[in-house]
Amino acid sequence: MERKRLAIDGGIPIRERYLPYGKQDLDQSDVEAVVKVLQSDYLTTGPMIETFENSIAEYVGSTYAVAFSSGTAALHAACYAAGIKENDQVITTPITFAATANAIRYQGGEVVFADINAMTYNISADSIENVITDQTKAIISVDFTGQPVDYQAIQDIATRYQIPFISDAAHSLGAIYKGKRVGSLADMTMFSFHPVKHITAGEGGVITTNNKQYYQKLCTFRNHGIVRDHEKHPTWYYEMKSLGFNYRMSDIHAALGANQAKKIDAYLNKRIAIAQEYTKAFRDFNLITTPFQLTDVESSWHLYVLRLQLDKLTVSRTEIYQALQKENIGVNVHYIPVYFHPYYQQLDYKKGICPHAESLYEEMITLPLFPKMTGQDVKDVIKAVKKVLRYYEVKA
Ligand SMILES: *Cc1c(COP(=O)(O)O)cnc(C)c1O
Repeated sequence: MERKRLAIDGGIPIRERYLPYGKQDLDQSDVEAVVKVLQSDYLTTGPMIETFENSIAEYVGSTYAVAFSSGTAALHAACYAAGIKENDQVITTPITFAATANAIRYQGGEVVFADINAMTYNISADSIENVITDQTKAIISVDFTGQPVDYQAIQDIATRYQIPFISDAAHSLGAIYKGKRVGSLADMTMFSFHPVKHITAGEGGVITTNNKQYYQKLCTFRNHGIVRDHEKHPTWYYEMKSLGFNYRMSDIHAALGANQAKKIDAYLNKRIAIAQEYTKAFRDFNLITTPFQLTDVESSWHLYVLRLQLDKLTVSRTEIYQALQKENIGVNVHYIPVYFHPYYQQLDYKKGICPHAESLYEEMITLPLFPKMTGQDVKDVIKAVKKVLRYYEVKA
């Protein structure tokens, strides 16, 4: 049987146009929502902020939502509200975007990495128990790819140690854990509105919470630490009571976010349908492992991560990544374990501390997945993956 020549070896690529791994979907109503703000009195600190916050709070079922200029700023604020300070230990996963761990560092905290579960790729309650100490002041989990972590098990640990539980839900807007939507299952939950995420505000983030004290701290932190009391003082008077930041979202961004929020379920359904097509196509393909899904959760499918069975392949993930890129398929890698980055290496994190995360890293590849993908796009991805992997299959 003749094997099809790969594009990387001069063959014809599976598709002519490059398919990115993620992309926003904007329609005329999004454009109009933004234009309307541009023509209004407020570009920032106006009424769209609350409109956007309410739409997110309502969707996820939380009491409060506080908008920030980015998801990263939102995580920083959550660490502040949780009381993280110099040398406090905070536990998180290494399989995340660096911003999750960086938020701990912004507060001067020490990042403690707990390993992932080898099946779900999520931080596990067992590995948290393995690294928790009296110095641990918070836990930040990540719903990796959109599959919720075991919120109940992690909340139990947080309750036992009387520490806040923060959820980085940048991947899991719309995901469901044991019948409940992600957004009020932890003390504070972060959503990101970067263009590759479920809905976009251009840039932006939100913390949802049911706790009034956290809510007040989050609001103060994003606005320089300024507090106003119009009952006690004249309206021009304010006091800066703590060192906050300007982490406000603008009304331009909020208007886009609020309009996009109307389409969360429509986008979610498209992501689910594409993920199902991938799983159907790859279920019996012996060179990869498809994403394992727990039965009591519903993923929001931010990412579709294949695990390569490298013992059946003649090359590493990097060669397969490069071959797929040449086929014009925008595969990606999520994520480089956070402590592999030079900044964390110089803080003296040893390689080998999270073995499951490190072996996953060698074997993982992310396929394109976004609502605007056409049926043909999905077919191209499937065809390209099969073409490339069959080419590099170890022959008996
Ligand atoms: C996108 C993302 C962030 C950061 O969000 P920004 O809005 O880009 O600042 C944090 N954590 C995870 C897991 C993300 O995917």
